[in-house]
Amino acid sequence: MADADFSFDLAGLSHALELLGAVTEGAEAALPLPSTLPEVGCGTCAALDRLAPHVIGGAARLGEATAFAHMDPPTPWITWATTLWNASVNQNLLHPATAPVARDIEQRVIDWIVPLFAMGGGHMVPGSTLANLTALWAARECAGVQAVAYGESAHLSVGKAAHILGLAAHPLPCRPSGALVPEALPVDLRRTALVLTAGTTSTGAVDDLSLCGRAAWTHVDAAWAGPLRFSHRHAPVLAGIERADSVAISAHKWLFQPKESALILFRDAARAHSAIAFGGAYLAAPNVGVLGSHGAAAVPLLATLLAWGREGTAARIDACMALAARLADLVSSCAQLELLAPPQTGVVVWRPKSAALTDRLFAAMPAGSCSLTTLAGERWIRNVAANPNFAIAAFAAALEDALRTLGAS
Ligand SMILES: *Cc1c(COP(=O)(O)O)cnc(C)c1O
Repeated sequence: MADADFSFDLAGLSHALELLGAVTEGAEAALPLPSTLPEVGCGTCAALDRLAPHVIGGAARLGEATAFAHMDPPTPWITWATTLWNASVNQNLLHPATAPVARDIEQRVIDWIVPLFAMGGGHMVPGSTLANLTALWAARECAGVQAVAYGESAHLSVGKAAHILGLAAHPLPCRPSGALVPEALPVDLRRTALVLTAGTTSTGAVDDLSLCGRAAWTHVDAAWAGPLRFSHRHAPVLAGIERADSVAISAHKWLFQPKESALILFRDAARAHSAIAFGGAYLAAPNVGVLGSHGAAAVPLLATLLAWGREGTAARIDACMALAARLADLVSSCAQLELLAPPQTGVVVWRPKSAALTDRLFAAMPAGSCSLTTLAGERWIRNVAANPNFAIAAFAAALEDALRTLGAS
């Protein structure tokens, strides 16, 4: 008799879906999980019932109308369905034999996206941390770079990649808004990879992308703002990116994908890929990049783009940008508040003019609506437009209430 736990079980899966739709109780109401490995299992449906209040009930609500704090978006349900398919067929993209179609799907979705960046090809990785590492690895192999220069507001993964690769790290000064000061660039960049950020993590600033091509290798870390290239309206924010040697994009940020989903794109992909490829006796195709066995994150991404098209994808990103612009207007028009800078890529950074009140105002806002960031040693409130369902009117009302309470106290 076949083990039924490995078979298609519509009733069991329907139960899992019912839990997904119905569980709202937080983890505090749930039975605690065993502290040690259970000797005897409780069975599949009982395990789901036991876990749902933790995994679903205890989760941060990233798609809630109040969520506007982080670069983590809600995901469209087509990605839930295709992630289930992925888990079920469990393809391994390391081997053509264990992923006869999934490898082509990844190639297809890369082919769809590269023209937006004028890149030649690339591959998927679990995040832009890995995309940045992969890019700088290729830079070291292809261009012989020995150092990495980047704005000090670049993501920590850039310094981390330099460290792993044994490259000298040269952080450079940035403007208060977060963008690299171009005049601070070293004159001789013949042995240096220059990393420009398109959408810094703290403030969403875009470095001057006309600097692409100034160094032996230019990598654009577009982890956050890369998807603006899908939008006719906002693509020009990243003008110049087409002259980069490599581009990192986190699809699990502004392409609304489940983690872990990101892309590393190369202008000369054949050259870059061959520089970071390894063969092995048991491999039918060379292993390109950092990962060994890995799954088909391309399937939910391709499914989303198939369902929405460029236009539908851009519509969601444009909606987020419009929300950020409205929030910036709201802050600018309030006499008690100060805006750091006009938002370039959907990240809005602001605080009370009495800066000492920042933490208290933050604490008075709905949970999950704002985050905090520290710039030049000072605290600021930060919002990130990753949620197209964010309700700005309710946020404005909550902000007004919070300011009134602070003013009265
Ligand atoms: C989020 C982010 C990263 C890291 O990407 P992960 O997908 O979290 O690994 C790198 N650079 C920037 C600018 C980011 O915002």
